Amino acid sequence: MATMFNVYNPATGELIEEVTAHTEGEIKQAIKKGHLAFKKWAAVNAHERSKLLRSWSQKVQENKESLAKTMTLENGKPLAESLGEVDYATSYIDWYAEEAKRIYGRTIPAASESKRITVSKQPIGLVAAITPWNFPAAMMTRKAAPALAAGCTFIVKPAVETPLTTIRLIELAHEAGIPTDAIQYVNGRGSVVGDIFTSSEFIRKITFTGSTPVGKQLIKNSADTVKHVTMELGGHAPLIVAEDADLDFAVTQTIGSKFRNAGQTCVCANRIIVHESVLDVFADKLAKEVQKLKVGNGLEEGTNVGPIINKKGYEKIVSQVNDAIEKGAQVLTGNKYDTDEEKGYYFVHPTVLKNVNSTMDIMHEETFGPVAPITSFKEIEEAVEIANSTPFGLAAYFFTNNYKTGMYLHDHLDFGIIGWNDGGPSAAHAPFGGMKESGLGREGGIEGIEPYLETKYLSVGNL
Ligand code: NAP
Repeated sequence: MATMFNVYNPATGELIEEVTAHTEGEIKQAIKKGHLAFKKWAAVNAHERSKLLRSWSQKVQENKESLAKTMTLENGKPLAESLGEVDYATSYIDWYAEEAKRIYGRTIPAASESKRITVSKQPIGLVAAITPWNFPAAMMTRKAAPALAAGCTFIVKPAVETPLTTIRLIELAHEAGIPTDAIQYVNGRGSVVGDIFTSSEFIRKITFTGSTPVGKQLIKNSADTVKHVTMELGGHAPLIVAEDADLDFAVTQTIGSKFRNAGQTCVCANRIIVHESVLDVFADKLAKEVQKLKVGNGLEEGTNVGPIINKKGYEKIVSQVNDAIEKGAQVLTGNKYDTDEEKGYYFVHPTVLKNVNSTMDIMHEETFGPVAPITSFKEIEEAVEIANSTPFGLAAYFFTNNYKTGMYLHDHLDFGIIGWNDGGPSAAHAPFGGMKESGLGREGGIEGIEPYLETKYLSVGNL
């Protein structure tokens, strides 16, 4: 008998739908199908693959409202954010529909008159993806679109909290004419599906977005079959406010970065590092604006901050806030909770903490919640030292109108994504990814299709 798992609305705790978890046999069967479909899909010419991706994009846009509603129901984010995520997810399909036509090789001058040398690219094979719950649409299309554009077949396991958006997106890909075996999903617990994926000889690449510990495990498990890996892992973004920054602008951008998706994003500002001369003004302005954010069900008009995805996430946030307060942090606003354990919902009111220091957990662990901890610096070198002091290196932000300060920060921050006077730098046309323990490889931009391609070198002699 099939095993089912429940998908709940994190804003109310209500059951939305029961979903079938695939058995080991079914997952292996899907992998086999993806493997067998590979040669045929790779042989479809690039212009045709591009056309199919464009019709997928069109179907997604035609279903934007219903996809967004599904996303808000299973993830909790405000409807406006879900609508934005559908557009963001579509932008990856659009971008890679074009990049499909630009997979170029090259010729190399040979060292002998009798030789010709060429370099060509070919798709690497079946790709398996594992995605998180915080961006159920975009984290999938950011992987599927370049894989399909390159000529790879694709199979994804979405997070158990949010499989419905992914399932619908894949149905739409099929409706658009992409062969059913070229893009598939399987459902189940990550620890189970992950092992089946990594041990399969048919899967040539694992692409993962999720936490750093799971990413490390997947890298280890992929070693036996020497799979390609792309890892988009955890972050702990610093946001530096220099003494010359436009403070009102910095506050607006900080709020966008920090409180989107209730602070449950890998790139959200997690450590706010403010020059001591503007610390009080910035902190007061931020707290005042944060108080205006409306907490509630994402389907209700005007909601800015939805629920936390589950109890585990909620407990981690509360523990970090309590730890910070015990060690001397001052609460400027928030530290209020609205929860019902029996029903199963957990809301954290946007919180701003001042006088935060490096002894506090919140300065070392990814928060994944709507809490903005503020600390201060005197010299710019100190700000860089604080910013670089974690094993993470995903996104960093700074606010300054001084060119020298900006270039210094750009050059010295060890992060894959830098927002200079920009709290929302992510875009399909730019490379997204982290340094250090935040990951391997990049998604988006021209860089994002390379990981799905093998390089083949041909040397013709005796001419
Ligand atoms: P997670 O626990 O790592 O889960 C992410 C996915 O991995 C889920 O599908 C999960 O399956 C699966 N998984 C769990 N254990 C596994 C295992 N042993 N083997 C294989 N797969 C496994 O992460 P999360 O806490 O849900 O998501 C938030 C994390 O993702 C944060 O650390 C965040 O920073 C990171 N993230 C990174 C990016 C980026 O681009 N760098 C973007 C978004 C999020 P289940 O369905 O069983 O949970």
